[in-house]
Amino acid sequence: MFDNKERTNIEELGEFGLINYLTKNIKLTQKSTTKGVGDDAAVLDFEGKKTLISTDLLLEGIHFDLAYTPLKHLGYKAIQVNLSDIYAMNGTASQVTVSIGISSKFPLEAVEELYEGIYLACDKYNVDLVGGDTSSSKQGLVISVTSIGYADEKDVVYRTGAEEGDLVCVSGDLGGAYIGLQLLEREKRIYLENPNIQPDLEGKDYIVERQLKPEARRDIVDLLKEIEVKPTSMIDISDGLASELLHICKQSDKGCNLYEEKIPLDPMTFDTAREFNLDPTVCALSGGEDYELLFTVKQADYEKIKFKMDITIIGYITEPSAGCNLVTKAGAVHALTAQGWNAFKSGV
Ligand code: ADP
Ligand code: MG
Repeated sequence: MFDNKERTNIEELGEFGLINYLTKNIKLTQKSTTKGVGDDAAVLDFEGKKTLISTDLLLEGIHFDLAYTPLKHLGYKAIQVNLSDIYAMNGTASQVTVSIGISSKFPLEAVEELYEGIYLACDKYNVDLVGGDTSSSKQGLVISVTSIGYADEKDVVYRTGAEEGDLVCVSGDLGGAYIGLQLLEREKRIYLENPNIQPDLEGKDYIVERQLKPEARRDIVDLLKEIEVKPTSMIDISDGLASELLHICKQSDKGCNLYEEKIPLDPMTFDTAREFNLDPTVCALSGGEDYELLFTVKQADYEKIKFKMDITIIGYITEPSAGCNLVTKAGAVHALTAQGWNAFKSGV
C-alpha cells in the first residue's frame, strides 16, 4: 500500500519518539481541558456538568479492511463513530483519547496519515486529543478511541424515555453506508481476480463516502436545541434502524409502529441496492454504520420538526403489548426484528 512512498521505520523513533511526533502540534481549545497529553493522566474540569464517556475498539479485518480504506479516512471515521455516541446522549463532545497498536508493516508515514484523519475530525468537531496509548501489534492495526463530553443533567437523553404517542424520528437517510460497503467489497473482489482492472466507483461518491467518511450528527443536536425540542429518547444508528429502534422500545418498555414508506432513502442507495438485488428497505433496517440519530419526541413538538429538511418522522411509540411493528408499503404488519446480516443471506 505504501510502496511508492517514503518509508521511515518506526523503530528508529522508538515509542516516546513516536508519541512525541504524533502529538507535538496539539493545540488545546476546550475550556474543560486542564491538562492534555504529557502526564500520567489528562485533567478535565466540567464545572458541575455531567460527564459523558464512550469507547470503541476497531480491529483490522473485523471493523475495517485496509484494501479499500485509506488511512486518513480510517482515522477520521474512528473519531466520528465515537463522537456520535456522545451526541446520541444529547451532549457536547469535548475530548478524545486515541490508542493504537501498530504492526511492523506500518511505516511512520502510514501512522502519520492515520493521525491526519484523526486531527481533521478533532478540528472539525472541536474536540481536544488529550491522551492515548501506543503499542506494537503482532497482527494488524488496532485503534481504540474514547470520547468524552458533557451535558447539563437536565439535557441528557437516555434510551429509556420514550412514551406512548411519541413520534419516532430519524436524521438524514439510511442504508447508504451498507450499500457503499457492498460496492467496495465487489471492487476488491474484481481487483483480486484481475489487478489490471481499476476500481469502478464512478458516480457512486455519496454511498462510498457514507461508508468511508461518515459524519456524526452534531448539527442535529444543535438544531434540536435551537428549536427547543428535547427528545424523550435517543440512540445513534450503528447497527441498523431495526436494531436501534428495538433498543429504544425495550429500554423504554414500549412498542412501536414503523412505516416502511417513511424510511428516508437516498436515490443512489435505492438504485444501487437494486443493482445488488437487495431490498433497499432491508439495507436501511439492518445495514448499519449510517451514524444517523434515531430519537423520539412528544407529539406536542410536531409543529416544530415537521418541516425540518433533515429530520423524518417514521413512526410512533405504542403501548408495550402492541409490540414493535413494521407497516409495509402494501399495508401488511410484520413484527420488527433485528435481522442483522441474515436478512441479506436469505436474498430478500
Ligand atoms: P504511560 O507510560 O503513563 O502510559 P505513555 O508514555 O504511554 O504514558 O504516554 C505519554 C503521554 O502520551 C500520555 O499523556 C499519553 O496519554 C500520551 N499518548 C500516548 N500514546 C498516544 C497516542 N497514540 N495518541 C495520543 N496521545 C498519546
Ligand atoms: Mg502508555
